[in-house]
Amino acid sequence: MNATTPRPLLVVGAGIAGVTAALEAAEAGHQVVLIDREPAVGGRVLRHHRYFPKMCPPACGMEVNIQRLERSRRVRALMQTELVAARRDPHGWSVTLASAPAYVGPRCTACGECSQVCPAAVADPHNLGMSRVPAIRLPHGGAWPRQYVLDRSACPEGCRKCVEACKCDAIDLGAQPGKSELEAGAIVLCTGWQPYPIEKLPELGGGELQDVIANVQLERLGAADGPTQGKILRPSDGQAPRAVAFVQCAGSRDVNHLPYCSGICCQASLKQALYVREQLPECAVTIYYIDRRTPGRAEDLLARVTATAGVNLIKGKVGRIEASDGGQLVLRVEDVEAGRLLEAKADLVVLATGMVPNLREGALGLDLRRDEDGFGLDDLDAGVLVAGVARRPEDVAACVRDATGAAAKAIVAAASCASSSAGGAAARGA
Ligand SMILES: Cc1cc2nc3c(=O)[nH]c(=O)nc-3n(C[C@H](O)[C@H](O)[C@H](O)COP(=O)(O)OP(=O)(O)OC[C@H]3O[C@@H](n4cnc5c(N)ncnc54)[C@H](O)[C@@H]3O)c2cc1C
Ligand code: SF4
Ligand code: SF4
Ligand code: SF4
Repeated sequence: MNATTPRPLLVVGAGIAGVTAALEAAEAGHQVVLIDREPAVGGRVLRHHRYFPKMCPPACGMEVNIQRLERSRRVRALMQTELVAARRDPHGWSVTLASAPAYVGPRCTACGECSQVCPAAVADPHNLGMSRVPAIRLPHGGAWPRQYVLDRSACPEGCRKCVEACKCDAIDLGAQPGKSELEAGAIVLCTGWQPYPIEKLPELGGGELQDVIANVQLERLGAADGPTQGKILRPSDGQAPRAVAFVQCAGSRDVNHLPYCSGICCQASLKQALYVREQLPECAVTIYYIDRRTPGRAEDLLARVTATAGVNLIKGKVGRIEASDGGQLVLRVEDVEAGRLLEAKADLVVLATGMVPNLREGALGLDLRRDEDGFGLDDLDAGVLVAGVARRPEDVAACVRDATGAAAKAIVAAASCASSSAGGAAARGA
């Protein structure tokens, strides 16, 4: 590659933000390397049952992007791969990528023979551990690349049943982790988020009471490929709840937990109230909130939910949740508008927890500026851009806008790097 040819862009994280950034840059004519630590693209949105504002299945939007990825000759997607070191040089970045062992290789046709003979089962990451799957499996029904993945730590010693069953010779149980070097013109970080752990909210029963679950878990309970095949059931007894309570700002806007507002969990609970009422028309739904943050078109969702029979919104902070003798949950709530303390009962409680940026754990060996909450900040001079929830809490539509902007900025950063180094080379040659 000569000094005036921009190097490829490196996009880290293949959720909706990363896939968008990669495709927008590629379709503008740029080479892109897209990496993700998971075995398939899509990130967290593919774990949602439906999307607000339109209430459509997230897989639809992602299918279009997968077709674009399949058609693109400019995006190289490397799964189970992470950025482990990065060094700035005059032309951009020299980075080191580490890949997990490729126990299942590209010859895999996703025929499923190996899963059928596999004796080991593991907690299914796609279902947030709420169901079990064979150690060798497709990551989920809509996975792309459409290639099986193997959890080697679960294999009993000496087992080779999957190797014997595979007619494509796609499995290598002795595969080793790999490292590779890459020169990149600019880096776009789209590393997304993880849910705030409910175990950190024991006063609300998080991690202690079985029927207190997180909003991300309710998404899986509603999904047809979820642990209950789409039935909203109480984890403790597998029965349909007759009363569901949503607790807003669970661990958010609280200096002891997440000081910021995640911006989407009000809309997520409104959406989930509709899941419950559509499936269980007799079930009473109560949403306890501090503020209803529903900007722009989200007001329509709020209006739809407030007009839905059986859904009650109460302005009140839930301070404590305990189990009652009858197997129900008792919520102690400060009802702000009535100015009194309430004791309310529910069969199932959903904690509307917020989004924690993965960048909070570290900036992947980059000298990246982050805000006080751990969200990443752009550094245009260094050619490092941040998009999606890695940058700030936001919904999918905002992620897509954000990622498109980041792709444009990354192209400019890579091009200016290439031209300034070419200018330097020309000046030195003169
Ligand atoms: C309960 C709930 C319901 C929601 N419902 C909706 C909804 O209905 N509509 C809506 O618009 N929004 C909704 N959202 C918000 C939506 O989930 C986010 O906007 C979206 O997931 C952000 O996408 P992203 O690409 O930024 O991050 P992610 O989806 O988190 O993707 C990040 C990707 O980066 C990868 N990654 C992370 N770290 C690394 C690393 N070090 N190396 C390599 N790869 C890495 C991850 O594996 C992942 O694939 C909801 C959120 C919650 C909590
Ligand atoms: S690894 Fe082999 S047996 Fe398993 S799905 Fe792939 S091709 Fe089929
Ligand atoms: S080697 Fe591991 S993945 Fe393969 S069949 Fe045995 S337990 Fe399953
Ligand atoms: S979006 Fe709503 S529930 Fe989420 S932190 Fe903000 S105010 Fe609380």
